[in-house]
Amino acid sequence: MLKMSNIQKILTESIQLLTQSDSPRLDSEILLCHVLGVTRSYLYAWSDKQLSIEQYSQFKILLNRRIKNEPIAYITGYKEFWSLNLQVTKATLIPRPETELLVEQVLTRLTTNSQKQIIDLGTGSGAIALAIAKERPYCHILATDSSKAALKIAKKNAKSLKLTQVNFIHSHWWKNLNTIKVDIVVSNPPYIAINDSHLNQANIQYEPKSALIAGKYGLNAIQEIIAESYFHLKSKAWLLLEHGYDQEKSVCKLFLQHKYKAIKTYYDLNNIPRVTVGQI
Ligand code: GLN
Repeated sequence: MLKMSNIQKILTESIQLLTQSDSPRLDSEILLCHVLGVTRSYLYAWSDKQLSIEQYSQFKILLNRRIKNEPIAYITGYKEFWSLNLQVTKATLIPRPETELLVEQVLTRLTTNSQKQIIDLGTGSGAIALAIAKERPYCHILATDSSKAALKIAKKNAKSLKLTQVNFIHSHWWKNLNTIKVDIVVSNPPYIAINDSHLNQANIQYEPKSALIAGKYGLNAIQEIIAESYFHLKSKAWLLLEHGYDQEKSVCKLFLQHKYKAIKTYYDLNNIPRVTVGQI
């Protein structure tokens, strides 16, 4: 496969090889840009440029990983979220665009110069905490994860984005956080049911199961967070949670059972109920 040639020919051939991808052209272009260290416009401007043997063999290795359905973000090691370029590894979930709704809902509850205390439970790559830190530079933000490998990446992202006001703590939800109380708790916990057919999709196989799966109905982590956060929220403080497309009712019920007020669900850009909030 793939005879050594110029940019245009290599792209044409690799697009044909990515039969299982929804976006074969974009994938091929991103991988080639990654190997060449150029932007996509370069590929069009210099479409008849020959690749060196080294570049070519490196591209082939990356393309083969993509052919086996490994997500682009893990191959390049980066994913854009809230216009932040975040490093991701197999220890972290790949941030999804719909999670930006969660960030938006946190931001609407904070004035520009707010100095409130916020905690992001299960931060993964740090996406939510860092997006909030970027927009609300005076807030005190704590981010947790039960995976030390994920925290290492989140800390790296904070450093390279110069958002060093975010602090990180190794903790499974509230376990290591004692009596701390905050103004906002935000979380995108695992919420997929263990038997959900969605888990058979090829791309998801590469992501950490602990960041995706949460028991029989996908509600274990959500339930734990709703129950425990109640004791860590100041008066009038908010809990904001991302959840699955079919969990609006169950999540609202859990918020109600635990005596939260002002419970409301927000819909994402695909009109899917995605974020539910409750106030103390
Ligand atoms: N939204 C992700 C998916 O459907 C799941 C993320 C999560 O469980 N928090 O693939």
